[in-house]
Amino acid sequence: MVAEILNVGTEILIGDILNTNSRYLSLKLSEIGFDVLWHTTVGDNEKRIQLAVETALKRSDVLIITGGLGPTKDDITKEVVASALKKDLVEDLEVRKNIEKIFENKKITPTENNFKQSLVIKGSTVFKNENGTAPAIAVEENGKVVVLLPGPPEELAAIFEKDVEKYLKKFTGFTIFSKNVHIFGLPESVVDEKVSDLLVQKNPTVGIYAKEGEVRLRVTAKAENKKMCEDMADLVVDLIKNRIGKYIYGIDVLNMQNALVKTFIEKNKTLAVAESCTGGLISSKIVEISGSSKIFKLGAVCYSNEAKQKILGVKKSSLDRFGAVSSVVAKEMAFGVRNVCCADFGVSTTGIAGPQGGSKEKPVGLVYIGISTKKETKAYKLLLSHGERDERNKIRIRAALFAMDKIKREVLK
Ligand code: ATP
Repeated sequence: MVAEILNVGTEILIGDILNTNSRYLSLKLSEIGFDVLWHTTVGDNEKRIQLAVETALKRSDVLIITGGLGPTKDDITKEVVASALKKDLVEDLEVRKNIEKIFENKKITPTENNFKQSLVIKGSTVFKNENGTAPAIAVEENGKVVVLLPGPPEELAAIFEKDVEKYLKKFTGFTIFSKNVHIFGLPESVVDEKVSDLLVQKNPTVGIYAKEGEVRLRVTAKAENKKMCEDMADLVVDLIKNRIGKYIYGIDVLNMQNALVKTFIEKNKTLAVAESCTGGLISSKIVEISGSSKIFKLGAVCYSNEAKQKILGVKKSSLDRFGAVSSVVAKEMAFGVRNVCCADFGVSTTGIAGPQGGSKEKPVGLVYIGISTKKETKAYKLLLSHGERDERNKIRIRAALFAMDKIKREVLK
C-alpha cells in the first residue's frame, strides 16, 4: 500500500526547523508495511495545501498530514482537508472537554479561537492528544485514508504510537517485526561483504546502518502474525551470528551503553571508570541509562598527571618512565579507580586524541584501555585514527566505545 506524507508549515520551508516528523513517520510507516513514495512540504497557504492534498489523493492510498492544527488563523489544514473531501466540520465534545481541562490545569481562560481545535471532520475517527490540544483525525473516503496529526514532534509521536499506528496497521493487513543486530569492531564495508547476500533478499529484508564506529543490521520480516515474523527474523539473525558472531554486542539493545548497563545489572557487578582522553564520555554515556546507579560506582576524569597520581594512585615512576599514554599507566589507572571505591571492575582510557601531541612513537589516535578485575589487570593498545581531518572527537568516541565493549566482554567471561 502506498503512503505519503505532507508536512504543513512555513517554518519548515524557510529552514527555521528541521523536518523531523517526516523522518519519524517514514520509519514508522515502513515498519508497518507501507511503501512511502512521496514527502511534500507546503507553507501555511490554502491553495498550495489544497493542491498538495488533491495530488496526494490521486496517487496514494494513505495520506498523513502533519501541522497546521493549531488555534490560530493560519492553522488551516483541517479546513482545507474537509473542503477537499467535501465534508463539514463538527464539534467533538470530548475534544472540547480535553481543551477545557488543559486550560483549567494551567489556570488560564481559553479564548474562543482555542475551541477551533474542538472541530473535527464529520464522520472521522478522532484520537485524543494526551499532550496537547489538537487531536489526531482520520478520515476514510472513496478507498483513501487521510490522517491529520499535530505538528509538535513529541505530541505527534505519542499519539501515533498510542493509537494511530494500530489504526493504520489494519490497512496493510500484515504484521511487520524487526530485530536489530548491534555490531562493534568491524567496519561497515566488511559487515556489508559478509552479509551481502542477505542485504538483497526480500523477506525478511536486511538493512545496514553505520554510526560512530558501530554497525547495525536491521532484520525485518513481514507475515500474518508476530510469532511467524519472529521465527523468520530469528533464522536470519542466526545466519548473521554464524558469520560475525564475535563482533555482535547485542540484539535489540539500542546502543553500547544500554548493553553494558544491562549486562552489569544481570551479572550483579559494579563498575568504576577512570578517563583521560575520553574526558567523561564513558561516564556520561553510562548515566544516560536509567538504572545505572545500581552498577556505576565512580567516574573520574583525571586529565593531568597530578590527578592520575593523587586520585588514582598512578606511580610517578611509571609516568616518568613510560609517559601518561602507556599500557602501564592505563593499567594503574584501571586498578586505582577500581580500588578506590571497591568496584568489581575498573576501566580506564589514556590516549592522544590530537590534532596536536602526536609523535612517531606515539601517534595521534594511540589509545590504551586499561581493564582491572579482581583476578587481573591488563591493557589493550588501539590505533584509532583513520587519518581524517578534525578527528579529535571521533577518536574520543571510538575510544569510549572500545572501552565499553571490552569491559562488557570481561563481565561476560
Ligand atoms: P500547535 O497547536 O502547537 O500550533 P500545530 O499542529 O498547528 O500545533 P504547527 O503549528 O504546524 O503544528 O507546528 C507547531 C510546532 O511543531 C512548530 O513550531 C515546530 O516546532 C514543530 N513542528 C511542526 N512541524 C514539524 C515537522 N515537520 N518536523 C519537526 N517539527 C515540527
